[in-house]
Amino acid sequence: MENQNKKTVLITGASRGIGRAIADAFAKEQYQLVLNCHSSGSELNAYATSLEKTYGCNCLTCIGDVSSPSFIRQMFEKARDRFGGIDVLINNAGISHIGLLHDMTDEQWQQILNTNLSSVFYCSREAVPYMIHQKSGRIINISSVWGVVGASCEVAYSATKGAINSFTMALAKELAPSNIPVNAIACGTIDTAMNSCFSEEERHALEEEIPCGRYGTPQEVAALALSLATSSSYLTGQIIRLDGGWI
Ligand code: NAD
Repeated sequence: MENQNKKTVLITGASRGIGRAIADAFAKEQYQLVLNCHSSGSELNAYATSLEKTYGCNCLTCIGDVSSPSFIRQMFEKARDRFGGIDVLINNAGISHIGLLHDMTDEQWQQILNTNLSSVFYCSREAVPYMIHQKSGRIINISSVWGVVGASCEVAYSATKGAINSFTMALAKELAPSNIPVNAIACGTIDTAMNSCFSEEERHALEEEIPCGRYGTPQEVAALALSLATSSSYLTGQIIRLDGGWI
């Protein structure tokens, strides 16, 4: 087993975008990393190697689908074998779906629900027993402002993020006696591949609506996640909007 004095963070959806930036921020702080993604295994493995070289940290990569409970079970087993347990769980993996609700198929509905929401349940269920045993740990969920106010043409996505927000508030109450804060970061528009569907013109129009006048960066989300990993455990059950004053 690797160094048990070091803390271990597990980040889902770490091959790119926000998850990748979070991995970088925690690697810099000498955390041991368990990194997951679904379809970009070679990219994630190369990234893990570069983090190990740059920061001298230990990385375990687990390629698989977060919507599969059996995969999640195996991922946590591997993480426990290698590092002993997860101190910080970051539920980041997610997909979006843009379109009218009445055009959505059963399969699309199930896929977004399972990827965005059920994964948070599966990972938390695996992480919590060790954290309760240690009487410490952190759960940070990457959510969206659409989970707070809802978005037209993103009903299913908004529903998953709204559910993550209530999951966060409820689990925070359940785990506060065990000294385990649970918080969510409700992102506004962050500059990642998830928003590559917008044209330059649409991007410009969107930026004009945001009081800060720009998209947020994955590094800004990562900095907030890192601060939530070390903040007072009295800060729990919060849905923190990181949106440039947008909503
Ligand atoms: P992204 O598309 O750049 O990255 C998503 C990551 O999730 C990738 O690593 C991908 O491999 C992984 N992933 C997707 N489906 C998966 C699955 N089934 N199993 C395992 N991994 C899977 O997106 P991003 O912008 O970095 O988004 C990260 C999180 O932030 C998501 O939960 C998203 O909803 C949330 N968010 C993003 C924005 C934004 O504007 N970018 C806004 C609000 C919330």
